[in-house]
Formats: sequence, structure tokens, C-alpha cells
Amino acid sequence: MALALIATVALATACSRQAQPPEPRDASVLFVTLDTTRADHLSCYVDDAVTAGPRFRGDDRQQKPAFAERRYRGAKTPHLDALAARGVRFVRAIAQVPLTLPSHASMFTGTYPEVHQLRDMGGFTLDAKHLTLARMARSAGYTTAAFVGSKAVGRVFGLHQGFDTYDDQMPSREQQEGKLPGVFPERRAEVTTDRALEWLKQHARERFFLWVHYYDPHDPYDPPEPYKSNYRDDPYSGEIAYTDEQVGRLLKFFDEQNLRERTLVIVMGDHGEGLNDHGEATHGIFIYDDTMHVPLIVAGPGVPAGKVVNFQVRSIDLLPTVTEFLHLSPNPAAQGVSLWPLIERGQPLPGQGSNYAYIETLYPKTYMNWSELRGMRTDRWKFILAPKPELYDLERDPGEKENVLARHPAEADQLQKKIWEVTGPAAKDQKLTYAPVNKETRQELESLGYVSPGTPRELILNMSGPDPKDRVPTLLAMQKFGQLMKQGAFAQAARAIESAVKNDPTNPLAHLYLATAYEKMRDWRRAIATYRDAVEIRVATDEILSRLGKAYVRVHDLENAVRAMEEAGRMNPTDLDNFRNLGTAYLQLKRAPEAEKAFRAILIQDDRYAAAYNGLGLVAIERGDGDTARVNFEKALELDPDQYEAMLNLGVLYQRAGQKELALRYLRMFSEKAPRKDYGHLLPDVRAAIRELRTGT
Ligand SMILES: [Zn+2]
Repeated sequence: MALALIATVALATACSRQAQPPEPRDASVLFVTLDTTRADHLSCYVDDAVTAGPRFRGDDRQQKPAFAERRYRGAKTPHLDALAARGVRFVRAIAQVPLTLPSHASMFTGTYPEVHQLRDMGGFTLDAKHLTLARMARSAGYTTAAFVGSKAVGRVFGLHQGFDTYDDQMPSREQQEGKLPGVFPERRAEVTTDRALEWLKQHARERFFLWVHYYDPHDPYDPPEPYKSNYRDDPYSGEIAYTDEQVGRLLKFFDEQNLRERTLVIVMGDHGEGLNDHGEATHGIFIYDDTMHVPLIVAGPGVPAGKVVNFQVRSIDLLPTVTEFLHLSPNPAAQGVSLWPLIERGQPLPGQGSNYAYIETLYPKTYMNWSELRGMRTDRWKFILAPKPELYDLERDPGEKENVLARHPAEADQLQKKIWEVTGPAAKDQKLTYAPVNKETRQELESLGYVSPGTPRELILNMSGPDPKDRVPTLLAMQKFGQLMKQGAFAQAARAIESAVKNDPTNPLAHLYLATAYEKMRDWRRAIATYRDAVEIRVATDEILSRLGKAYVRVHDLENAVRAMEEAGRMNPTDLDNFRNLGTAYLQLKRAPEAEKAFRAILIQDDRYAAAYNGLGLVAIERGDGDTARVNFEKALELDPDQYEAMLNLGVLYQRAGQKELALRYLRMFSEKAPRKDYGHLLPDVRAAIRELRTGT
């Protein structure tokens, strides 16, 4: 007893010597991320070429075209402009990675990709060992919630950690062939805002950390009216303008509820969009400012109005900024710095500046078999480590058009050393081992009977493969392909991408594109041959295998279908749609136990995936267990009111059980709601069943 007491006292003394962080602050944080939003497409960023004046020495200024002479190509963003006017706008905020998931992981962990290890889309997940902002806020007593606009940040990738509420439910989509690779299910900003406002009505008076993610500016660009008409020639900017309107709706709530004084609002982009300034239409391949320079606006208590900060800042600085505001204990793993010295005084703390921004993309390697890219950016310089390295003087050449490496070898050398400080020493072969699921999920999948699910994979990062900038012709062919696909010119699209496959035969994405065109042409034989081609030369990704499986289903080769989809599931169990297709194929093969396993593999990772419950219902039907079937169909419909299959299945189940009223209710619901283009072929039978039930009563 006495010993224990002494220990307690000693501990207390040890603690009191350190500065105690004050109590968590009685305030809230609204964090909004704008997907795919270039800083220079917000109207409050228009004048930067002029307001950044001090950066340009007198003689340089002469050479710079006056702003008025340049054409503004962006959106009108009155709400974000107003937010900037009552807060601080960061002129040069830099994302760490030009990809949604890794970029958000850097914001939420305050670390570079080398630390959080969520380094690309597909195949990577955020391990539970990382302390995220949401987890920190929740343990300090804040209510946490997230409303996201796309499955690109779905809970399977681990960003949901620490959120009490994580709303990543997207409208159910048809399982159609011919979807372009890399397109995630998304929902309009309006829906995300509605959901967030609904939540706010319940929780506005609490202390909270709320994340709202808008995906609309991401390709494909399809803004609603009036933005569709107003931005007919520039639908990308139309999406940004539309998103701005929705941010405005969200902020209005805070004003109406008098929450402005207790809420820190942070708006940040996760990456930009290439828009062909360097041969890339979208993002992920290059690390030029087109895709790395993002908007960042901070407003709220303690934030001066109308201030503009010219110093470079980074997405890893977000976490330390929020933890300081909320008085949370700092996250010792964080590599970013708090932006409060910049917000309050316009100057970084001595020695603590964020002037070095490490940037990288592995996407060229993982999707194209090209060299990965790394870079280091300062206020003045950008160094890109590539097979042919590049150096840009951003003061003279903000468009990064002229590689001045030969003229400034010392600068390049110093920045390259800075890269190795972040990534670890330049090993001959940087071997990256990564797994698409964390240990817990892997164990749960194994307990279902899956052998080596999501086995860690290896990636060699030694700049092998072509330099992405030498492959711009492939990128242009892919763009041409995309345009033709949108126009429905599938055969032409296939021709446009065939040459890319020929010239770049180990490129997995080019194979995927070509096969996608064949699928649209309903030429399953050639689609299968194209996928198999990638398998044979050993560049098949899990996406290629899952699509190969679907194509085999089309030609009724179910044995080969399940083989391909099983392999895809082993490689990447986070592809839940693949498990759904696999489960459905098993059901067709009357292999109910394996079908059940596939649907359960989905629910382990996302227990709100409606179609998996529909699948489990069908498994129960196979077993003659109508009660379990009904419960599962109902659950599917409850999670997703547009789960048409569950609707129909409930109708049929009640019909078989002789419960006419209930059977009629669900069959009618199905015949009224189910989209004709997907379910039209079932309607005559459904209507006949309805007639029969009506005349029978
Ligand atoms: Zn994104």
C-alpha cells in the first residue's frame, strides 16, 4: 500500500514538471476538403500573381505579364471568397501526394507517406497504429463525424478511424461493365451537405470535429444546372462553382446558429488537376504545381480577417494546427508544424518553418509500370527526382516550363539530400512492402477460410521504368480514349488506345482501358483476351483480374470467372464489389457456402454494404431458411432504399409464403422504382405476378 502511494506521488511530481496541456477547448472544428481543386481555380486566388508581389524582384516583375493580360480560367466562388475575407488565405499550400487517399492520410496523421504508408489508391490502407486527428479529438471528448463524397475515401481504407459517425454511403450503382477504371461511386455535394446538416442539427451544441469531403470536381465533370449551362465550356470549373455553393449552405448553418465564434473552419484541397498544362488531364502521374498546389483557407476564433500568407505550407501541417487550436496533446509522430504562428503573426517560428515540402507519387509505378516520382519544394525551388531529374525556379517560372537543373546543380543537390532526409537513405533498391488490409482484417478474413488474403506485396522503388514525362504520348492516347468513350465511339476508342498498348506493352492501365472499350462493344472475347494478355506478361493488377472474372461471367464461363475473382480477392480484399460479384457467381454455381464466405468478407470490412445482405438472403434461400433470408433482405433495403434486388426478393419471398399484401407492396415498389435500363427485362414477369396476386385476393 505504502509503496503504491509513493509511486503515485512520484509520478505526479514527474508530470507536474512538464507544462500541462490545458483542458481541451470548448470549441469545434469544421474541416472541409475540396477534392481535385486547383488553387488557381478559386476566384479568391485570382490575384496572386500580383499580391505575391514581394516575391518578385523589380526586374523580374517587368517580365511577368500583368494579371489583366492573363485569362482567368477558374470558377466564381463567392462563398469561399467570403470565408477567405474573414480569415486567412494561404497562397501556397502544397499537397504531399496528388492522390485522394494518401493526401488525406497526410492531413489526418500530420505525416509524410513514408510514415503513414497509405501511399497510393488501391492496395493500401491506413494501419490502426497511426494516431489520426479524429482519434485524438475523440479521446479528448469531442464528438467526431465525417460525411464523404466518394468511395475513394470509403471506410475500407482506414480513414474512418476515430470517427463516431462515418457516412460513406453512396447511391447504389449498377454493376455495369465498361466503367472506366479508377472511377469511384460518388454522390453530389448537395447530398453530402444535406447529411452533414442533418447531423449538425443534432450535435451543433456539442464540441465536435466534423469533416465534410466534396468529390464533385473530380473527373468525370458533370455539374448540375445552372452550373452546367454557365460553365458549358469548362465543366471542371462548373463543378468547383457548384461545390462552392454547397460550402456556402454548410457555412450558413454556422452563421444562423451563432456558431461562428466557436468554430474553426478549415477548407483545403487534397490535390489539383493537370488540365493538360504538362500533358496530364487529371492527376496522379506528375508532381507539378498543377496537381500539388491546393487552396487552404482558415477562419474562426483567433484568426485575423482578410490576411494572406505567402509562405509555403503543407497538408501535413493541418494536424498540428488543429491540435493546437483544440489544446490537444501534440502527436509526437507528426512531421508538420502548427500554422498558428503564420495565422497570428504572419511569420513562422524561427527554425520551424515549413519551407521544405516533400512530395511524391507512386501512381506511375503501380498503374503504369513507369518510374515513381519524388520531389522537394521550397518557396523558390522545385526539384523532381525522376530518371531525368528536373529543377524549376518557381519565382521566375511558376508554370514549371523550363528545367534549370544544369544552371543550378548545387540547389538540385541540396534538395535531393532533403528528399533522402524524409525517405531514408537512398538505398540502391528501395523495397516497399505493403498490404491492402491491416492485420486484424486479415485475421478475420482468414477465420472465414480465406488463404493468405491481402498478402503483403513488394514494390521496388528504384526509378526503374520509363520517365513519366517521356510517356506523354501514352497519356494523350488515354485522354483521346476517354473523350471517344464519352461520345460512345467505342471502336474508335479501342483503336486510339491500341497503339498505347503496343508501344507500352507492360502498362496495366492501358490494357484495362483497351478491354473496357471491348466490353462497351460487348466483345467479351476480345476483352478477355486483353485481360489475359496482361496476366500472361505478369502485369495483371487485382482490378484486371476482377474485371476478367466479370467478363467470364458474361460468356457463362463461371469456373474461370470465380478463379479470376478469387485471385483478385487474395491480392486486394478491399475491393468489395469484387467479393459481391464473386459471391453472385458462386450462387449461380450453387456453391452456397462459398457465396456466404464472399458476402461475409464484405461485411467484415463494411457492415453497411447493402448488397452483401441481399447476397446473404439468397444464400439463406438456397438453404431453405426463409426467416434468415427475409431479415437479410430487409436489412439490405433499410441500408439502401434503392436496393432494387432486395425489394424484388422480398416480394418473391412473401409471394411464396402466401402473404399477398406484403408481396404486393414490394413487387409494386420494385415495378415503380427499379430503373428500366437495368431491370426492364424483369418487369413483364413482375407485373404478371402483381396481376395474379390482385385477382387472387
Ligand atoms: Zn482527390
